Amino acid sequence: MTRDQYTFTDPAALYADIEPQKQRMPEPGLEAELTPRPDLGEDTYRGTGRLRGRRALITGGDSGIGAATAIAFAREGADVAISYLPEEEEDARRVAGLIRDAGVTALTFPGDLKDAAYCRDLVEKTVEGLGGLDILVNNGGKQIFNDDLATLSDEQFDATFKTNVYAMFWITKAALAHLEPGSSIINTTSIQAYKPSDVLVDYASTKATINAFTKALAQQIAPRGIRVNAVAPGPIWTALQPTDGQPQDKLDSFGEDTALGRMGQPAELAPAYVFLASAESSYVIGETLNVNGGIPSP
Ligand code: NAD
Ligand code: MG
Repeated sequence: MTRDQYTFTDPAALYADIEPQKQRMPEPGLEAELTPRPDLGEDTYRGTGRLRGRRALITGGDSGIGAATAIAFAREGADVAISYLPEEEEDARRVAGLIRDAGVTALTFPGDLKDAAYCRDLVEKTVEGLGGLDILVNNGGKQIFNDDLATLSDEQFDATFKTNVYAMFWITKAALAHLEPGSSIINTTSIQAYKPSDVLVDYASTKATINAFTKALAQQIAPRGIRVNAVAPGPIWTALQPTDGQPQDKLDSFGEDTALGRMGQPAELAPAYVFLASAESSYVIGETLNVNGGIPSP
């Protein structure tokens, strides 16, 4: 490793040479086919034992932010289960390999987060396979742009809420039956919760909901020693974007409106999840950690 996440670099220059490229893929998209390939921290994330012996479940752990988090958790010593859609098997296999390379257990559970029975089963299978659960990362998400409410279908509105909100509710509820004091729940919200785009009415609404869910539940279960927090990414280069997450004409300027003037990489998100998962954030509860390149946010 010539550089790791602790190496001091100019954050405006870091990754600035990586330009987004116009391309279109069917949802959910394969990272293996994305150009340029997002940086998941494969060559840079260095663990220091911050999650040794912990057991984590990460939804949408096959690619993007979830995958970078899965790799980081594994290198910090945690066993990791990931969920994803069956058509993402290729990405999931690669990430599972990287988890195992860290010397910990990787479990892979394909299925649809819109299905309550799958969500509950996912938790039970994780607990069975890892011998318990200490860290839950609700990260799987759906984002399809739509520029006219008149054409936003009931089906899409429902699917966006099922994937982003209901799955979090079903999985968290099932997980709470197993989480011991010291456990951590981390939800993935978005800058869209505060600065919603005109073309993301349904998606932005789910992300605001995730923030409120996080802050309400955090207060409810803090006395049990279980912490709930959220991470709010800004524009991050992942398969979510070219799968109609953005209009095509916005793709090649993706991230330019941030203070750093560039899109972020999944590797830049993983340390935020590690911090919220580890015991060092013991007094951090109901917080939303913004990782967005400098877009002003509350
Ligand atoms: P990604 O496409 O790599 O990850 C999203 C994952 O969600 C997919 O890999 C897929 O496995 C999962 N998923 C979607 N629908 C599903 C379903 N019905 N059943 C099971 N799994 C399903 O993209 P990402 O950008 O890493 O997204 C991760 C999270 O980050 C999402 O919640 C997203 O809303 C959030 N986020 C992303 C950005 C960004 O700019 N990329 C910004 C803010 C928030
Ligand atoms: Mg994926």
